[in-house]
Amino acid sequence: MSPSGAEVIRQIKQQVEEVDPAEVSEHLGNGVTVIDVRESEEWDRGHIPGAKHVPRGYLESRIEGAAPNRDARIVLYCASGQRSALAAHTLKDLLGYTNVASMTGGITLWKDRGYKVELPRTLTPQQRDRYGRHLLLPEIGLEGQSKLLDSKVLLLGAGGLGSPTALYLAAAGVGTLGIVDDDDVDVSNLQRQIIHTTDRIGTPKVDSAEAAIAALNPDVKVVKYPVRLDASNIMEIIEGYDVIVDGVDNFPTRYLLNDATVRLGIPVVSASILGFDGQLSVFKPHDGPCYRCLYPVPPPAELAPSCGANGVLGVLPGTMGLLQATEVVKLVTGAGEPLVGRLLLYEALSATFTELKVRRDPDCPICSRPVDEITDEEMGVFPDYEAFCAAAG
Ligand SMILES: [Zn+2]
Repeated sequence: MSPSGAEVIRQIKQQVEEVDPAEVSEHLGNGVTVIDVRESEEWDRGHIPGAKHVPRGYLESRIEGAAPNRDARIVLYCASGQRSALAAHTLKDLLGYTNVASMTGGITLWKDRGYKVELPRTLTPQQRDRYGRHLLLPEIGLEGQSKLLDSKVLLLGAGGLGSPTALYLAAAGVGTLGIVDDDDVDVSNLQRQIIHTTDRIGTPKVDSAEAAIAALNPDVKVVKYPVRLDASNIMEIIEGYDVIVDGVDNFPTRYLLNDATVRLGIPVVSASILGFDGQLSVFKPHDGPCYRCLYPVPPPAELAPSCGANGVLGVLPGTMGLLQATEVVKLVTGAGEPLVGRLLLYEALSATFTELKVRRDPDCPICSRPVDEITDEEMGVFPDYEAFCAAAG
């Protein structure tokens, strides 16, 4: 007579090494591969931190991806310790794994003992639909989309550059968008600042931008700062953001922003536009040059947009703003090569892109020094700005 199923399990369990949750907890992260062999719905309800998921039904086909080295230490677990014992037996006897154990009592005992459980982020059915085209990209996928949803991005200005950037970052599912802008919507903005509308003329730009973002994507939380960024508020506003999108049009604020972000280690995606030309770079503190490495002194006065009203082609901030949004998505998800140490120049009339290398200045007054040596007093200070604008007429 064949043995009963319970008898088979009992026999197999005798041949498999079993370890206590205490031992697994002690060795977590120390070269032990922990594998959860339960079904996806069980995994989604919580799993051991750092564990890999290989459902028992896929054990033979997927184990090599999760544990390529057959002699490395592997601990399997399930809900109660039965399925993991059977899976350990399979790995040992059929697949040649030499150092496999099954965790006693499964995740049930693990939880009873009070050990930590990690909940994977799951997207709602609506989010799966909304971000479906991201989920199809291996470079983004669920992991990248989760990072976007967890990310906090600060936009300096809801103007020409900030408008398209805000809309696309909101559409991409950036979870928190901070917006710093103390202006009201004016009819002259609407030639390029596409987040605003004719019926919102006269309302604060932060409110107008919030309305547009809320209508586009309810996943996005907007944090409004209807103020001018200055030395008194910058540290308080920018702290805690993952990336800053710089669309400010004046050099004092750019230097201030640079010094503050180097101190806090926050990357800045910076763009500027004038006439038909735009430029773009990513300043990632200590990974590449900072803004002061590129511009130790302000550029020539005639190239300083802040010294007065200048013409700008309406679509140009769209082009540059979307390049900024692209760099933000790359920085947040880790996909691709961000524009660090490179300055991208775009000339709309000739339709040409030029890339220049930018090196870190070993004598940079800010980024060459330990961050705790940068004082409040020197932040944003640079050679004689007033005289510089006066010279521009
Ligand atoms: Zn520097």
